[in-house]
Amino acid sequence: MGKHILILEGDGIGPEIVREARKVLDVVNDKFDLGLTFENELMGGCAIDVHGVPLADSTLERARLADAILLGAVGGPKWDKLDRSIRPEKGLLKIRSQLGLYANLRPALLYPQLVDASSLKPEIVSGLDILIVRELAGGIYFGEPRGIRVLENGEREGYNTYKYSESEIIRIGRTAFEMARKRNRKVCSVDKANVLEATMLWREVMDTLHKEYPDVELSHMYVDNAAMQLVRAPKQFDVLVTGNMFGDILSDAAAMLTGSIGMLPSASLDKKGRGMYEPCHGSAPDIAGLGIANPLATILSVSMMLRYSLALPDVADAIEVAVGKVLDQGYRTADIYTEGTKKVSTSQMGDAVVAALI
Ligand code: NAD
Repeated sequence: MGKHILILEGDGIGPEIVREARKVLDVVNDKFDLGLTFENELMGGCAIDVHGVPLADSTLERARLADAILLGAVGGPKWDKLDRSIRPEKGLLKIRSQLGLYANLRPALLYPQLVDASSLKPEIVSGLDILIVRELAGGIYFGEPRGIRVLENGEREGYNTYKYSESEIIRIGRTAFEMARKRNRKVCSVDKANVLEATMLWREVMDTLHKEYPDVELSHMYVDNAAMQLVRAPKQFDVLVTGNMFGDILSDAAAMLTGSIGMLPSASLDKKGRGMYEPCHGSAPDIAGLGIANPLATILSVSMMLRYSLALPDVADAIEVAVGKVLDQGYRTADIYTEGTKKVSTSQMGDAVVAALI
């Protein structure tokens, strides 16, 4: 039987970019006779408007039953003033934790055609191909206790808890080592082991786990240095593995090396390889509705979905080749536009990928 995909368009540019990804999915579904089926549900601000919560139980149930999930992005100023417990981002954190999506894969790959769109010099970024493996279901984003409390002197204090158990570190470490085996066999583990006990343990556990992967080179780097190295000499990295918060920040920095955050896809996988696929960027409320958002990160997320959850690597390759062709043809959305290329809208970019696929 064909696989079933749950689509969560979300907020802001979410519906615009997912529409283009869906065009691509429909084309490959027909062309390769995949028998994929789809359903749409709400998550984020749009779900708050309808259900009063960012992720309804019924939606979570549909997500559990799906073979894969495609997400646009959630959030926006309309919901920023709501109580913390029902903000759009809570829906995202809940679906990640409830489905056990602990391994977030974020490839930062610079297409040669976009070398001029990068904020760094061509010689520093050309040929860039990094995989950031971010732990997604633990760390400070989930650690308890957390909150904002009133101290004895009446002053308020915000607090969070940064913690990682050995088993959490081992499972993400395994993902990084396994991924490195399919690439250049180098893992750099990023921590702040000079200050944070949680990451001292992280480093120790990574070293122990490394003994099972002697064919992969392991190095360690403090997160502040990693941030610097990413903009100084990013090509030194192959696989970079780190915790939730550091991964969040470093992957945005890595995104800019590739020209635009609008080019960066991601996969969030559970232990069986089932997953949710989404662009690395947010809902970009500043450009929502203008038809100028770059849909390629979402289209490339579809390609990751076909590769990792649906075991269709040939179809994934076809989409990536089509994206390369479209860039060769000079089509660029505003975020990656440089002089001499052809500026196109969100839907024109989607159409161009579709045309390159047929
Ligand atoms: P953002 O990623 O939405 O936008 C940052 C900048 O990048 C903006 O200038 C935006 O216009 C631009 N940008 C983002 N995606 C683009 C695309 N596809 N094409 C062209 N330009 C693009 O980050 P933000 O502004 O910090 O956050 C906006 C909202 O998104 C907030 O509510 C935030 O909480 C939410 N958010 C959601 C997710 C998610 O759903 N996974 C991730 C990050 C932020």
